[in-house]
Amino acid sequence: MGKTIIQDKLNRPLKDLRISVIDRCNFRCQYCMPADQFGPDFEFLPRSALLTYEEIERVAKIFVKLGIEKIRLTGGEPLLRKDLPSLVAKLASVEGLKDLALTTNGVLLKKLAGQLKSSGLKRVNVSLDTLNDKLFGKINGRGVGTGPVLDGIAAAQQAGLGVKINMVVKKGLNDGEIISMAEYCKTNGIELRYIEYMDVGSTNGWKMDDVVTKKQIFSILKDRFELEPVNTGYYGEVAKLYRYKDTDINVGFISSVSESFCSSCTRARLSANGQIFTCLFNGIGHDIRNFMRNGATDEQLEERITSIWNARIDRYSDERTAETNKNRKKIEMSYIGG
Ligand code: SAM
Ligand code: SF4
Ligand code: SF4
Repeated sequence: MGKTIIQDKLNRPLKDLRISVIDRCNFRCQYCMPADQFGPDFEFLPRSALLTYEEIERVAKIFVKLGIEKIRLTGGEPLLRKDLPSLVAKLASVEGLKDLALTTNGVLLKKLAGQLKSSGLKRVNVSLDTLNDKLFGKINGRGVGTGPVLDGIAAAQQAGLGVKINMVVKKGLNDGEIISMAEYCKTNGIELRYIEYMDVGSTNGWKMDDVVTKKQIFSILKDRFELEPVNTGYYGEVAKLYRYKDTDINVGFISSVSESFCSSCTRARLSANGQIFTCLFNGIGHDIRNFMRNGATDEQLEERITSIWNARIDRYSDERTAETNKNRKKIEMSYIGG
């Protein structure tokens, strides 16, 4: 299948795609879906609103034709979607796709890691913000300890999946866990990615003061470890990577707030109900679900996705100020999946 490279108005190619398969979650992380905002009465999407696996596969093939090389499945919690391995199998066989990954809170990984691997998944990023059970229970809003997540990580490693850990660092909450998380990941040969707390959505009460910057985290780390920079040479790589000296274990930083990377942002996002977002901070997306359900042909879908990308001018993080954060209507992270 021939590939077309399409570019946006700032000359950024379309290279990777995040697909949210579900907006629900079994956690209520306070920086993502705070329990007081996502209570028992919160209305999640009905099943009929979600893209079917056949629809996701169809859109994915068109995205790959338009230059996408990497797909990451996310959510909400993607492992809550029924029979996710069957979607993985469909996507893994899309010709031209080079990388297929998943971001998860890890709770259901123990059960599913083997099936995901045999269906063609390559890698998982597991979110874990502390090793302290009590603090973890407070962060996830459900009182769940770290046990199920650590078991999930071990199961993923055993199944032969690549494993990385994502840690969102929030001031006064888990910034005391920076070293213990590094020690754990280094000992277990896992790449840890420290993520700056972001102003996604409008429910997490984000304040600039709550952000622990890459520079601050790095200075804590370098007092304990000798680190050397790693150049991946991959255009569109969002993490700044370092390696613990004399090892092959990396540690990364996703500095979306303090050192934004909009100029090389090559990522599109597809929400669980079939809307394309060209930036994590968009308020509304571009519908393709109804377009497909109303009979659009593959050519028409290709044209629509191309024109959405060609018109893209997003660079929210480059332009972020306290005012832009306050005044902008933004989609929730749990809805389009980080
Ligand atoms: N439920 C899965 C999980 O937690 O890994 C996948 C979806 S979650 C929205 C994707 C990623 O976004 C997770 O690594 C999570 O830690 C991160 N995230 C959520 N809210 C965030 C925020 N306000 N700032 C930075 N990262 C955030
Ligand atoms: Fe759920 Fe992931 Fe959001 Fe936590 S970060 S509430 S696990 S979607
Ligand atoms: Fe990409 Fe938008 Fe994030 Fe900038 S703010 S890096 S354009 S998703």
